[in-house]
Amino acid sequence: MSSSFPSRDSGQLVLVVEDETGIADILIAYLQRDGLRTLHAEDGEQALRLFRQARPDIVLLDIHLPGMDGVDVLKHIRSDGATPVIMVTALADDVDKLLSLRLGADDYVVKPFSPAEVVARVRAVLRRSAPITTTAAAPIRVGRLEIDLEAHAAFSVDEGGETQAAPLPLTLTEFRLLACLAAQPRRCFSRSHLIETCLPESEALDRVIDSHLSKLRRKLQAAGHDDLIETVRGIGYRLWPGA
Ligand code: CA
Repeated sequence: MSSSFPSRDSGQLVLVVEDETGIADILIAYLQRDGLRTLHAEDGEQALRLFRQARPDIVLLDIHLPGMDGVDVLKHIRSDGATPVIMVTALADDVDKLLSLRLGADDYVVKPFSPAEVVARVRAVLRRSAPITTTAAAPIRVGRLEIDLEAHAAFSVDEGGETQAAPLPLTLTEFRLLACLAAQPRRCFSRSHLIETCLPESEALDRVIDSHLSKLRRKLQAAGHDDLIETVRGIGYRLWPGA
């Protein structure tokens, strides 16, 4: 299977880590048929590389892999945050071992499995880990920026932690882009995801997003927020506080 990045971003992204091509192909076909996007890694090193580049919504992780095994991959993923992980194992014994290690997998699947069952588990874990949305969202603070989702406005925060009175002069689209990136700092967002989230009413092209982002960057720089938004080559953008 190809490890190139999926171009459309309509569904949540599943990183499938599986060295047996036959199993991987079946899983990927079922996941995609259910509207999920997929990336495939055949070993642990590739899994971590793709994980860091693409920031998947969930990882389906085989334990027995050539080289770095699934347990080590899970440790690295856990040291990096709370991305849901479902471990896939050939042996029921492994589940006991994993549970005793308390490594924080979100679920376990034992081979041989029904692909439909795996898709159902993926959906269940994604539902469980979905952020709780509240009606009055608290402002997001990243670096020296405060983003007020209720007021649709972003403010600079001075050295003393005081929020400045005047909002940054952002357009609605620029504000939406900033809020989307800032909601999950360090996560890489594809252009198509940003188009869908921030310009849902338009048939925008990738270069339209690039143009909005370059204006947003200039305005952030003018307000003293340097290099807050990074371009991730071949994928899209992310917000990296403290860069
Ligand atoms: Ca394996």
